Amino acid sequence: MAGLYIHIPFCHSKCAYCDFFSTPRHSDTEAYIDAVISEWHHRRDALNETVETIYIGGGTPSILPVKVLDRLIAELPENATEFTIEANPEDVTDDWCHYIASTPVNRVSMGIQSFNNTELHTVGRRHTAEDALKAIDRLRSAGITELSCDLIYGLPGQTLKSWQQSLDLLIDLRPPHLSCYLLSYEEGTRLWAMRETGKIVEASEELSIEMYNHLIETIHHAGYVHYEISNFALPGHHARHNSSYWLDKPYIGLGVSAHSFDGRNRSFNPPSIKDYISRGGIGTSIIEEETLDERLNDYIITSLRTARGLHLDEATERFGKTAADHITATSRPHVKRGNMALHDNTLTIPESQWLVSDRIMTDLMKV
Ligand code: SF4
Repeated sequence: MAGLYIHIPFCHSKCAYCDFFSTPRHSDTEAYIDAVISEWHHRRDALNETVETIYIGGGTPSILPVKVLDRLIAELPENATEFTIEANPEDVTDDWCHYIASTPVNRVSMGIQSFNNTELHTVGRRHTAEDALKAIDRLRSAGITELSCDLIYGLPGQTLKSWQQSLDLLIDLRPPHLSCYLLSYEEGTRLWAMRETGKIVEASEELSIEMYNHLIETIHHAGYVHYEISNFALPGHHARHNSSYWLDKPYIGLGVSAHSFDGRNRSFNPPSIKDYISRGGIGTSIIEEETLDERLNDYIITSLRTARGLHLDEATERFGKTAADHITATSRPHVKRGNMALHDNTLTIPESQWLVSDRIMTDLMKV
């Protein structure tokens, strides 16, 4: 079963923290969607599997005029088990919701980030807390109940109290799925420059850990399952599409900067909208040559991000006994210290350590 991802690289404006490939210029929207459709027609024939999940992400897919989005959706498989589109609250009008409800899309993922308007404004989000509340209400009124909502913690100026308020407000609304991320400062972003010039102060590690601990305590109390570092779901509502990335299942990525994985090789489309359109989306894909060690490192990172963990038998099957022995040996000190657990030949990182799990994973990786 394969996943299909479609990247829409257009946004109304650039958020301060964002390092995804997206542009605020969207005069090429129609030509871009034509190229995506053409890439899909070209690549679907090589797909030997049924498409189980579809994810239209970005960028901001909800920026697309409905007639353009409709052209795209009409070309995609109709029977995907999970079909998600990302939306920004300011785009979620009654008309948009009713249109989405009339399509095979059955899940909406919305970037709320915070319910504090000062925090939203500081990082350049265009919507307000009120817009987000209205959007949830409109989606539900149109019959769209499979909602995933994103929040960010560690925002500039955010306090433990304001984080609690945002989280409590969202949990009271009970979206079936939540993604909560610690804000990261990526070089080249406006946020990075704001910190370097002293306009904002990065949240301390102690505060970030307090926020994370509050998050996991609150979320468990509310009945959500913490199944991946940043992802939480009410029972039965985990994100199938994203889970297949973590489980190393094959997926096709259409559009600029989209990545694909055929079960063995990874490839990506370069981030040039002009080039992508001029070639009709065809022939732009570049194979990422990965060594066995690089594939093993990917596997270590993706599996240890999840509550499922890393199965040593699976590692042996996929990468050989020497690789599995390497993981066993490098994980041993962490297991002794309680930073990792080993049960039934499966390694996991306890939830309490997930926020600092990069440091643990680095020790297991092959260099
Ligand atoms: S809306 Fe999303 S993709 Fe667009 S700039 Fe903001 S964070 Fe980046």
